[in-house]
Amino acid sequence: MKNYDILIIGGGPAGISSALAAAKLNLKVALFEEKEILGGQLVKQTHKFFGSKDESAGTRGIYIAQKLINEVNNKDKIDVFLNSMVLGYYEDGVVTALVKEKMEKFKPKKIIIATGAFEKSLPFENNDLPGVFGAGAVQTLMNVYGILPGKEILMIGSGNIGLIVSYQLAQVGVKVKGIVEISEKIGGYLVHASKVRRLGIPIYTKHTIVKALGDRKVKGAIIENVETKEKKEISCDVICLATGLMPLSDILNQINCKMKYIPELGGYVPVRDENMKTTVENVFVAGDSSGIEEATAAMLEGELAGLYASYEITNTFDKRINEIKEHLKELRKTSSKVVSGLKKLNLYKDFIVDSQKDLGKLHRTGVPEKEMIENIIPKDSNRFAIMECFQNIPCNPCVASCPTNAISMDSLNGIPKLDEKKCIGCGNCVAVCPGLAIFVVDKKKESVLLPYEFLPVPEKGEMVEIMDREGNFLEKNIVLNVRKMKDKTNLIEVKVSKENINNARHIRVVI
Ligand code: SF4
Ligand code: SF4
Repeated sequence: MKNYDILIIGGGPAGISSALAAAKLNLKVALFEEKEILGGQLVKQTHKFFGSKDESAGTRGIYIAQKLINEVNNKDKIDVFLNSMVLGYYEDGVVTALVKEKMEKFKPKKIIIATGAFEKSLPFENNDLPGVFGAGAVQTLMNVYGILPGKEILMIGSGNIGLIVSYQLAQVGVKVKGIVEISEKIGGYLVHASKVRRLGIPIYTKHTIVKALGDRKVKGAIIENVETKEKKEISCDVICLATGLMPLSDILNQINCKMKYIPELGGYVPVRDENMKTTVENVFVAGDSSGIEEATAAMLEGELAGLYASYEITNTFDKRINEIKEHLKELRKTSSKVVSGLKKLNLYKDFIVDSQKDLGKLHRTGVPEKEMIENIIPKDSNRFAIMECFQNIPCNPCVASCPTNAISMDSLNGIPKLDEKKCIGCGNCVAVCPGLAIFVVDKKKESVLLPYEFLPVPEKGEMVEIMDREGNFLEKNIVLNVRKMKDKTNLIEVKVSKENINNARHIRVVI
């Protein structure tokens, strides 16, 4: 029997954060992960994260994973059990686990369950054809093993996962034929939606998939307008489902945690308090297994569970516990779905969510109205940043990146505002923005500086194709400058004719 202070089940962002928090207080931790590496979903996330500067905003998920894994490996107090599966937790406080195919027993003082989530499927005709994938599988193939899932893909679901995976597929050269969304509004962040629209990828809101076409493998799909019932056939060899996640709750059920069905949090979730304590003595929960949210929330919840479990052992209260609770509130300030779910758990009782404005065409298509753009174009400057970020989302790295304090925001969930008199057009904000929503326009030089995350990177002096916000070709023009950035969001300054200067938002290298 091995004794530990805290045993953590799940080596994803929540579990790692719990382990680091407990190790910081000198407690002995066992961290279990059933796969061969730590990091969970983070190791597939090649996009930059939103949130605040303190929470690694503007950093790619894969780099956050690497940093966390290095920290774990440098902590003597954490024993990592890879390829190991916790099988059960019993009334005498013993945990059994399969450690590299050998059964072992552990006796921890506290347990933190951070087992994550699994993907929801969708019922439609032929949904069992080879070529129908979950978005997680597509990301694993593409971003972990370097294997393309197919050549032409249809994405189902326009939440953040659907939008992000579509963008990543386009980056590796897969043709994304469209994104299908049953609601009338795009589900994910609109800056992600605008990013894929610029690549010419259509988003079919108010549509659903009714049938996968093909005999032995996917050859296409039939989608249907849910209002008009009009059908459309789309050829593709992969149908990718990004239709949501469900908390993984097997171990929570096995140990008799009180569970509640809360659709806003993804399904059955454990009843827990504000310190992540479940209804079972000494058992905590964190991350997606406690309710589906973004990875930043999972990391904060993990840290909170780790610190609070440690407090119950050591009796030393870390003031970071209260700071994390405040951070979580800030992150959830515009997330009415999550907050309504938490209220059903008797948490966040008097919490008021900021109401989200309907952004009209932008919400339906990912492309802003002409007037929205005109309203944010500075009138008196020749070179200025233009921030096409209109939705209240928890994000602010642009503010900290500005050397002249030209960008301001009321709160983490505010809309960035530019003081055109202070902007020197340096482009720092363009490079850090996780939504790729900032561009620098130079009216005098007739140029646009834009973020570019594709290969090949064009050379200075090269002719490239310039596209608008919907991926339509505007003109061919010359690359004036290339700034290759360490984090791979390169900055390309391209010459653009006067009439297109406010519409040029993407370039294509002509091979
Ligand atoms: S371009 Fe430079 S100066 Fe202007 S807002 Fe961005 S970071 Fe600030
Ligand atoms: S413009 Fe600022 S707030 Fe908007 S996505 Fe970019 S970094 Fe975040």
